[in-house]
Amino acid sequence: MIVYINGEFVKEEQAVVSVFDRGFLFADAVYEVTTILNSRLIDFKSHMTRLRRSSAELELLLPYTDDELLTIHQQLIEKNNVNEGLIYLQLTRGNAGQRDFLFPSKSVEPTLVLFAQKISIIENSKAKAGIRVVAYDDIRWQRCDIKTTSLLAASLAKQYAYSQGADDAIFVKNGLITEGSSSNFFIITQDNTLKTRALSHEILPGITRQAILALAKEQKLSIEETAFSIEEAIAAKEAFITSATSVVYPVIEVDGQKVGQGKPGLLAHRLREIYIQAMSVP
Ligand code: PMP
Repeated sequence: MIVYINGEFVKEEQAVVSVFDRGFLFADAVYEVTTILNSRLIDFKSHMTRLRRSSAELELLLPYTDDELLTIHQQLIEKNNVNEGLIYLQLTRGNAGQRDFLFPSKSVEPTLVLFAQKISIIENSKAKAGIRVVAYDDIRWQRCDIKTTSLLAASLAKQYAYSQGADDAIFVKNGLITEGSSSNFFIITQDNTLKTRALSHEILPGITRQAILALAKEQKLSIEETAFSIEEAIAAKEAFITSATSVVYPVIEVDGQKVGQGKPGLLAHRLREIYIQAMSVP
């Protein structure tokens, strides 16, 4: 695989980051994952806008224009011959030369790494069959709106879900669902209202969440950005998660209890189809 590191495209074995890189020592880093469909980037601008916001919140230098970042993304797609998959981008505060909690001086160059991964987005068994999720205590920090590489809580949550025979975990805070371990979470109530948690420091402002809400609005669905509980999710007609790489996965079970008929919901399916359709238009 050809990867990008600090201005160069190299074979993955040749891409090296210092042990003193703050991304490694402190998870002092932000990231983005952009989907590739038909060798094209989906919602690229929105991902870069969020990247800039994440970096600014951490006072992390991002000395690249969107056009420069776009070129790097496109070259990686080309060099690795990716038709369907993702580009992962990570920006760290760089190599501080030692381990110190304080930020290094401004002269330290940030580390920028990007790589591509081929995955099936359209033909996907989870999208077809739906997923089973379990609740997990939201033990994350209080700035979940910043997309940092500090992902241990998400990893623990997913590991717990797998140990329970489920596909994924959803975080619960003070009795209310915040979001999925690496996705946003939606329900459709029995009276056909689409509900998802409102944006705050407690969730990541998902690019797919934003796109799905816009499409739902176009479809004249009734929408409420509000918090709800596990019980409300189980009592819902449908549930689903959204993220760049899953697009929309129907949720068919929460904590071992069926949602609706325990089958992928019609609206989740429709929103997925409409979004994929919209993404496929050049
Ligand atoms: N929430 C969390 C915690 C996530 O990790 C992700 C995916 N990175 C999302 C939501 C979905 O965001 P997006 O739609 O931009 O992929």
